[in-house]
Amino acid sequence: MKEKELLDLGYKKYSGDNIDIFFHQEICEHSGKCINGSNKVFDTDRRPWIVADNENYEKVKNIIHQCPSGALKYILK
Ligand code: SF4
Repeated sequence: MKEKELLDLGYKKYSGDNIDIFFHQEICEHSGKCINGSNKVFDTDRRPWIVADNENYEKVKNIIHQCPSGALKYILK
């Protein structure tokens, strides 16, 4: 999906150097797979709760693939 489509659907963008992460709060089913995958990138106690550059983008990509709800998306740069 393109960035504009994601933003139009209500996703919020969290930019990184190599990858942009998009998150939709209402779609999230709170499985915690993202946080378990990396609490450096995904930390609900922090604002912003997503910091894309805190891990290698390949790892971030793999974590996002495990999101069961589709609440997380990414676009590689
Ligand atoms: S992995 Fe996806 S559904 Fe699960 S908590 Fe993270 S964003 Fe929400």
